[in-house]
Amino acid sequence: MSAFDAYCELEGSLSGTIRYNEPMSRHTSFRIGGPARLLIECATLADLSCVLETITRHTLPWIIIGKGSNLLVADRGFPGAVLTLGREFKNYHLPDAASGQQQLVSGAGVVLATLVQDAFKNGYQGLEFAVGIPGTLGGALFMNAGSASDWIGSLVETLTVLRPGVGLLPLHPSDLPWAYRHSGIVRGDIIVEAGLRIEQGHLGQIRAKMEAAAKRRKKTQPLTTPNAGSIFRNPPGASAGRLIESCGLKGYRQGGAAVSEVHANFIINNGGATASDVVALIMYIQKRVEEEHGIELQPEIRFVGFE
Ligand SMILES: Cc1cc2nc3c(=O)[nH]c(=O)nc-3n(C[C@H](O)[C@H](O)[C@H](O)COP(=O)(O)OP(=O)(O)OC[C@H]3O[C@@H](n4cnc5c(N)ncnc54)[C@H](O)[C@@H]3O)c2cc1C
Repeated sequence: MSAFDAYCELEGSLSGTIRYNEPMSRHTSFRIGGPARLLIECATLADLSCVLETITRHTLPWIIIGKGSNLLVADRGFPGAVLTLGREFKNYHLPDAASGQQQLVSGAGVVLATLVQDAFKNGYQGLEFAVGIPGTLGGALFMNAGSASDWIGSLVETLTVLRPGVGLLPLHPSDLPWAYRHSGIVRGDIIVEAGLRIEQGHLGQIRAKMEAAAKRRKKTQPLTTPNAGSIFRNPPGASAGRLIESCGLKGYRQGGAAVSEVHANFIINNGGATASDVVALIMYIQKRVEEEHGIELQPEIRFVGFE
């Protein structure tokens, strides 16, 4: 059985779209990555179930992604199916103020920035820390995205995943081991919906917090060159960026990839960078930081297609 057989079987039977040999450089913020054998946008839950059943039968590896803003995809691509969430997973409802209810319920395919902006416009506070974090709600939940002091996991009141072979499953958010850039959501579970606690607040104060966060980001991040956010996790009690900078690595290049001059924990694609360039740079940074500080930096970004 091959990816092409699966493609032929699925093509025409989905509400969403399916592409064969789709370059992942078009679907990652790094603008790097070879072809996914299949790139499937699942528009509905029925699509998602059908796709999972088919690719499992064809024994194809698969991965679910959001906006690809925390991914490094290998130059040879991904030998299976890359799934994304479409239409049915892009609905959300702000709390119903009249009933006193304070939960934002959203599909996992919604872009996080949409939720942040809409909550703000309607006077809800809680999501200000997420200003400028690219990606979808699903990606943010899986990564427990956040700032230095706040993360999205702390707002989660309900969480529904699709567990292949089992079906829709409500998880108890309080049972998950939320931690710095870690949700504990098992790989293979597809987050489909979450309920986030947000509260009515003062519009001026919400705006001020959001503006401060956006300003900080503009000053400290290389926002005009393709990248994938922080490359390494901050080690306990230290800043990965400062450790890298102290090794004199700002601006250090490997092919088309370079350590950002703006923030040393960002690797930027100066044009034509390959995944191999980025991996070589990551390994070099790790070696230098280990030699100079005795600290082994751990990547925060997710690697796809390197297995
Ligand atoms: C300029 C820039 C700034 C950034 N700033 C921050 C920041 O301040 N804080 C921060 O935390 N991150 C930051 N990031 C990293 C990134 O934006 C976040 O991790 C984001 O939440 C990833 O969302 P995504 O939809 O792009 O996920 P992807 O990158 O597509 O995927 C990330 C992981 O989530 C999994 N995943 C995605 N969707 C689902 C789903 N529905 N169900 C299960 N698993 C899923 C994927 O399999 C993958 O393992 C930044 C990135 C960039 C490029």
